[in-house]
Amino acid sequence: MSGKKNISIVLKSLKKLYPDPRLELNYRNAVELLVAVILSAQCTDERVNQVTVKLFQKYPIPRDFVDVPQEELEQDIRPTGFYRNKAKLLKACCQKLVRDFSGKVPKEIDQLVTLPGVGRKTAAMVLGNAFGIQQGIAVDTHVKRVVNRLNLSILAEVDKIEFELLELIPQEDWTLFSNAAILFGRRICQARKPLCPTCPFREWCPGVEK
Ligand code: SF4
Repeated sequence: MSGKKNISIVLKSLKKLYPDPRLELNYRNAVELLVAVILSAQCTDERVNQVTVKLFQKYPIPRDFVDVPQEELEQDIRPTGFYRNKAKLLKACCQKLVRDFSGKVPKEIDQLVTLPGVGRKTAAMVLGNAFGIQQGIAVDTHVKRVVNRLNLSILAEVDKIEFELLELIPQEDWTLFSNAAILFGRRICQARKPLCPTCPFREWCPGVEK
């Protein structure tokens, strides 16, 4: 079956499995979500959430990330890994937020992707979850694996996968699909050992493990 034929089945099942799929990162506003998503690269959401409890208290606004010495920020985010690079990105990102967007997260994907450390995945995730604005589909490693295994897209590059999905999925479901596919990829269609016997797509999934 082609991706087009399968997408309505997949969407229906994902909605049933996860009626209100939410990100597992903790945040109270768009800036916090942006910071958390940048920190989540190569790190678990659980670890990021541990770090952001104190981080968001210490740095409530983007200006705070700009003003702090790089080394101090590095130590504050160290447990998330790649902390030197992440500190650099956070400072540069917040600098642009302060300089060009009055310290606020812009609500246009074309503007969001001009921020250092922000690609389409992060931008779509922030817009969809912090503002309820559907301007893209966040394709992370889980979404990529799930859509590849289900043959919704056979492409390897996440940006190209996203543009295929944008054609297949109704716009009102873009954030829901991404959030639900992330949960499904974490809980059922896991990277090393997918739980195929319990999967609703096992009868027809081309990637099923027998
Ligand atoms: S059948 Fe297995 S490989 Fe296919 S989507 Fe389900 S868990 Fe993933």
